Amino acid sequence: MIWNRQYETLGREELARLQGERLGELVTRLYARVPFYRRRMEERGVRPADITGIADIAKLPFLTKDDMREVYPLQLLAVDMDDIVEVHTSSGTTGKPVVDAYTSKDIGIWAESMARTLAMGDTSRADVVHNAYGYGLFTGGLGVHYGARLIGAAVIPISGGNTARQLAILKDFRGTVLTCTPSYSLHMAEAAREQGMDLSQLSLRVGLFGAEPWSEGLRREIESKLRIKALDIYGLTEVIGPGVASECEAQDGLHVCEDLFYPEVIDPATGQVLPDGAKGELVLTTLTKEGTPMLRYRTRDITYLQRSPCRCGRTAVRMHRLLGRTDDMLIIRGVNVFPSQIEEVLLRIDGVEPHYQLVVEREGGLDSLEVQVEMNERLFSDEIKVLERSERSIAEALFAALNIQTRVKLVEPKSIPRSEGKAKRVIDKRQL
Ligand SMILES: [Zn+2]
Repeated sequence: MIWNRQYETLGREELARLQGERLGELVTRLYARVPFYRRRMEERGVRPADITGIADIAKLPFLTKDDMREVYPLQLLAVDMDDIVEVHTSSGTTGKPVVDAYTSKDIGIWAESMARTLAMGDTSRADVVHNAYGYGLFTGGLGVHYGARLIGAAVIPISGGNTARQLAILKDFRGTVLTCTPSYSLHMAEAAREQGMDLSQLSLRVGLFGAEPWSEGLRREIESKLRIKALDIYGLTEVIGPGVASECEAQDGLHVCEDLFYPEVIDPATGQVLPDGAKGELVLTTLTKEGTPMLRYRTRDITYLQRSPCRCGRTAVRMHRLLGRTDDMLIIRGVNVFPSQIEEVLLRIDGVEPHYQLVVEREGGLDSLEVQVEMNERLFSDEIKVLERSERSIAEALFAALNIQTRVKLVEPKSIPRSEGKAKRVIDKRQL
């Protein structure tokens, strides 16, 4: 089901014209109203009149996560504070949080983009959306909420945590659409099995999962354990929250809401814009937002774009599911690797459970990686020899696929901590 046929199936030329017009208006507004952006444009010698089409976006300066900390809390505000109706921030676990301030129109854009996202999972008025994303400053909960409300579906605003209650509510209110992090959906499936709950009693049909990078292997696990279709969704607080891009039923890349958020992929080292199909850092521009618009925001997320026609009929460019974040990238003895690539290899191995942790240490100037992974109870053994053999074969599989040396440690079933939000996959013990 396509929520907004007019915009989601626009011809490429018409779309480019619309994007160009919107970019021109945005730049004119930012130049006039936000001293930070004006200064940055002046430094690059670019004026609003220089922006005559979407291709001119390459003339504009980037905005980085470090800039976002510099402008904290509200220096990017492009409207009067009286016009702001809601504020969200990131968790700020790695420094000052980043801020998104929304006007009433921005909340409308958010609801629209999330309605498109939910419609990719065929969500309609007939559905019950069990929304286990956290409500609060985090954008996941309210983003799903606004989109589901716009569609007219029933929302269960359960938020995260208390898994036993989640399962009871899911069953009693016949939730059909599940929204949470992919790792939490697996945790729910595991808890259901432990309680002896028969998952066929549930009415779940589809899950929309995001807020952390995940692999095809994890998708297969979720789909088989919960007996649903699992779709990947993408967004970030700075840009709007969830709703920036999402997978359709083809499960072959996430359609970006391109009339609202303009994507580019750049070489993170040089800032050069890369052609379709080349991996690099995703850069996003909010074409219509009023409160705190983002101009060429460097997301630190690694992906590539593909423009081949999609069987769903939408024309919007697709971004490949996240390959990782520039800050999550591990460099193990000179080889670059993302946790999601390791996950993909692990989950192809029989008996390996989708619960793992990567411990990075520095020994004598060299980085070493320990992969702690759970085996299922059937294959876990108390016999050291058997364990060692499995550990060796997993390390060999990782080396064959990724060319990295690892130390694999099989751990007992259920010993890796479960998360109710974003899973913590990497423990970095390096003193840098
Ligand atoms: Zn599609």
